[in-house]
Amino acid sequence: MNLIGHFVDGKRVGGTSSRWGDVFDPATGLRTGAVELASAADVAVAVQAAERAARTWRNASLARRTAVLFAFRELVNSRRDQLAEVITAEHGKVLADAAGEVQRGLEVIEYACGIPSALRGGFSENVSTEVDSYSLRQPLGVVAVISPFNFPVMVPLWFVPVAVAAGNAVVLKPSEKDPSAALLLAEWFAEAGLPDGVLNVVNGDAEAVDALLDHPAVRAVSFVGSTPVARHVYQRGTATGKRVQALGGAKNHMVVLPDADLDLAADAAVNAGFGSAGERCMAISALVAVEPVADELVARIAQRMAGLRTGDGRRGCDMGPLVTAAHAAKVRSYVAAGVRAGAVPVVDGRDVEPDGDPDGFWLGPTLFDHVTPEMSIYTDEIFGPVLSVLRVGSYDEAVELVNASPYGNGTAIFTNDGGAARRFQHEVEVGMVGINVPIPVPMAYYSFGGWKSSLFGDLHAHGADGVAFFTRGKVVTSRWLDPRHGGVNLGFPTQT
Ligand code: NAD
Repeated sequence: MNLIGHFVDGKRVGGTSSRWGDVFDPATGLRTGAVELASAADVAVAVQAAERAARTWRNASLARRTAVLFAFRELVNSRRDQLAEVITAEHGKVLADAAGEVQRGLEVIEYACGIPSALRGGFSENVSTEVDSYSLRQPLGVVAVISPFNFPVMVPLWFVPVAVAAGNAVVLKPSEKDPSAALLLAEWFAEAGLPDGVLNVVNGDAEAVDALLDHPAVRAVSFVGSTPVARHVYQRGTATGKRVQALGGAKNHMVVLPDADLDLAADAAVNAGFGSAGERCMAISALVAVEPVADELVARIAQRMAGLRTGDGRRGCDMGPLVTAAHAAKVRSYVAAGVRAGAVPVVDGRDVEPDGDPDGFWLGPTLFDHVTPEMSIYTDEIFGPVLSVLRVGSYDEAVELVNASPYGNGTAIFTNDGGAARRFQHEVEVGMVGINVPIPVPMAYYSFGGWKSSLFGDLHAHGADGVAFFTRGKVVTSRWLDPRHGGVNLGFPTQT
């Protein structure tokens, strides 16, 4: 049994709490680890270490910070297979998918290596006679990062490299379902030369999250998780004066127009619907078919689904198990609710025969047709391999449906009509839009974030927004006196 603690002030430590959580291998159903669930006192120790470290790290030169980031990039790059194995062992996603997650995280580290350019300010000479103005961006101090189970490496890496590069110290609270990868990242950052206390990992659940939200020394919180918790984190964090970006859940629609390439659309729907067993915030869960394409599209998707292999992520399968037994049971109950509500189960994943241990948390890819907007399989974020097809009569009806959703994370349109695509990108109320691209996750140098109930706060993750989030602006107006200065003048300063 693997006992999983915390990483504080440069070393692995145990906590004071007597509460533990279970960590499973989802492909076997075996309990493989026990993770300490931090108390508020444990969180306070980590924040204190971060406070101490932040005081000196903010003065580290940009050259020193980037040297650490480049070294960290090399370590993660050379150990990507090890990291992918740790992800698969606790999350269940197949190894190739886990390797993809590591790659997207690496890209944010690479972006953070360019922090000297991202932090550059502006300078205006002679804003008044012999007076200059310039802008700086400075770190906030201690910041918290709270991440979900579905990307145990990529989501921490959306924030931590940027926060650290900008001169902050971080307390990371990973998901208690798959906590091991975050500890490795912290150890490797230390190996790359990051001083003790600049990155701390505290494992835990809601108690640790609330302790971070209430701690006065924590200046900012980056959260990713489900919408109800994101709303809670935003409200509680901002109530204590913190800067908060809280990314929430999603229900992503893929609109297929009658002129689309149906083979491309069917491939995309299968990849985006069932990759990572649908446990992606950018997964496509609602396919909006603009008639008359639905019959043909559903047939082509079902044909592709017949070739998918569900099983242990270490055996070269296409799709792994769900993360826990409880989550698998919940997703199954949605499938049952869909059948009861009258949706047509074209492929029922409950019948799957997995290539893996029978005690794993299995559910095969599931396709529903004739889903209507009031059904719970449409209204709720299921977060599993369940794709719902809704049939509409026109482009306008499709956009109306997408815009009526309380979520606005990602969406995609499949069409060969450039004008329709352009209209869609303009009209749709969603933060990330794909045109013939089903999972439009922005590159690290753009920013990732949804609209409406998919993000509480203003700034998105990484890219320019990430740098802005982890820094505060300062403008300096300076004059070096020369003999011509004007003497006493109580008037309001204006340009002369
Ligand atoms: P979750 O909301 O259950 O947990 C997220 C984090 O919050 C975890 O660290 C957890 O320990 C903590 N937490 C859980 N309950 C809490 C509570 N009551 N109070 C305080 N903290 C609490 O989410 P999850 O199941 O780990 O992840 C899946 C969810 O994350 C999905 O809804 C998915 O859409 C969302 N997600 C969103 C994005 C995005 O970019 N918008 C990205 C990835 C995942």
